[in-house]
Amino acid sequence: MQQPIKKVVIAGGGTAGWMTAALMQKVLQGQIEIELVESEDIGIVGVGEATIPPIQVFNQFLGVDEKEFLRETNGTIKLAIQFENWRVKGESYLHTFGAPGTNLGFCNFQHYWLRAYKAGLQKSIWEYDLNYLCSVDGSFNKINTQNPMFDMPYAYHFDSSLYGKYLRKIAEKGGVIRTEGIIEHVQQDPIYGNITGLQLKSGKQIQGDLFIDCTGSRAILSQQTLGVKYEDWSHWLAADSALAVQTNRFEKTLPYTRSIAHDKGWQWRIPLTNRNGNGIVFSSKYMTDEEAHDRLINNLGSDPINDVRKISFRTGRTKEQWHKNVISIGLASGFLEPLESTSIHLIQSAIVRLLKLFPHNGIQQSAVDLYNAESKTEYETIRDFIILHYHVNERTDSDFWQDMRNLPLPDRLAQKIQVFSDVGEIFNDQHDIFRDASWLQVMLGQGIMPKDYHPAANQMSEAQLTDTLDKVFAAKRQPLVKMLPHDDFLAHYLKV
Ligand SMILES: Cc1cc2nc3c(=O)[nH]c(=O)nc-3n(C[C@H](O)[C@H](O)[C@H](O)COP(=O)(O)OP(=O)(O)OC[C@H]3O[C@@H](n4cnc5c(N)ncnc54)[C@H](O)[C@@H]3O)c2cc1C
Repeated sequence: MQQPIKKVVIAGGGTAGWMTAALMQKVLQGQIEIELVESEDIGIVGVGEATIPPIQVFNQFLGVDEKEFLRETNGTIKLAIQFENWRVKGESYLHTFGAPGTNLGFCNFQHYWLRAYKAGLQKSIWEYDLNYLCSVDGSFNKINTQNPMFDMPYAYHFDSSLYGKYLRKIAEKGGVIRTEGIIEHVQQDPIYGNITGLQLKSGKQIQGDLFIDCTGSRAILSQQTLGVKYEDWSHWLAADSALAVQTNRFEKTLPYTRSIAHDKGWQWRIPLTNRNGNGIVFSSKYMTDEEAHDRLINNLGSDPINDVRKISFRTGRTKEQWHKNVISIGLASGFLEPLESTSIHLIQSAIVRLLKLFPHNGIQQSAVDLYNAESKTEYETIRDFIILHYHVNERTDSDFWQDMRNLPLPDRLAQKIQVFSDVGEIFNDQHDIFRDASWLQVMLGQGIMPKDYHPAANQMSEAQLTDTLDKVFAAKRQPLVKMLPHDDFLAHYLKV
């Protein structure tokens, strides 16, 4: 399609729709017209409260003031996810956004730690990670330093419906037109099949050149109209249901998400400033809704403030996230369970990718192919990372965990696990949003102890190794004196 793009229509106003609208208007202001259609009667999925650090870049690019954003979304700081009972019952580990240790030369820090650990060191690798230290201390502060040793990447927990409203204000201020109404019919070009317009229940017609499908799991434009195929991954990730409920906040706000594995399925606890978000993710093959409801309700720790809500989903992705003149973003493009809080990030990276390849002078197949190839790898690497948590377990208390252990793995994941367990090394795929430190923490946390480490770690004498690790251990603790309890930080930082 070689026509210049003058008007973009965004169908859907959930987190995906408003993130797309806000960033697109910022980047292409004055060059294209943007109209967003959403229906208050249909509403949004209304979950999705935990994020990963790149969200900061998204907000900064929009010119968002962090304090205002946190106030308006009841946001808190997230340094990590605590995985409880995932390897065995009663044990937990943190997947932090930080990285253990520091750069010591040719090989990564884990090889030095592994050498010392195998020789009897009693400290876990997390003892060398500032995010871990602050998480267990329940504290946070913003440190102004250029020293990479003190890097403390963080993300947010927030109320996603409030985030959508916040972005809507930004987008509308920038000129995005919002239309309320239910899309009843999608019009197509009779020859090429491209979408030409949306017809609303009110009779109103909305024409456009490029359409963004943000209609959530309905995927009205891409799957329903264009017939884009869905790749089902439920043979790897069995969960197909979630129950969600909000509860009163705890007295103390943790700076991390809790992910609590049950005998079947797992539960999240997300602390906001005014309440907690909770839910249980499970497979209907292993657990009934009633059983899941019991497990959730008996593990909330505070009283519910609304009714438990059921959400069904199908894990997988649309095969062509860009097809003809439609790009699907958000739940319309696929679903991966929220174990590593990746869906909002997938929205962010889809918008950035689209904007980099924006077809202002008409759609080129080369751009479409690149977009689809990158989206595929990104989805697949996250999928593999999530499977890792389930597969490498030592739980013996249910068929569920046994079955997860026996899963045939995607080839690339099997290779990653094998390499790490043989030689302690991690290799990255391009477009994998999780870097070495993330894979390292989850592999170790789930119980994979490498048989070997890199020989470069032997270049230090034993005394030098001990001294170096001691110095890193001490250095990582230096910033702790500047930290505040998380609630004190929020109260101080958000004071008007
Ligand atoms: C249980 C669960 C937990 C999750 N937790 C997290 C998390 O912690 N972190 C994270 O990053 N992500 C999480 N997610 C994913 C996250 O919720 C979504 O990625 C995010 O909310 C984006 O949703 P969306 O905008 O694509 O869809 P929706 O919120 O469903 O929005 C769809 C929009 O389309 C509109 N629409 C639909 N049909 C029509 C029609 N016919 N006419 C007009 N408008 C229409 C709706 O009104 C709505 O505005 C979670 C998801 C689930 C299911």
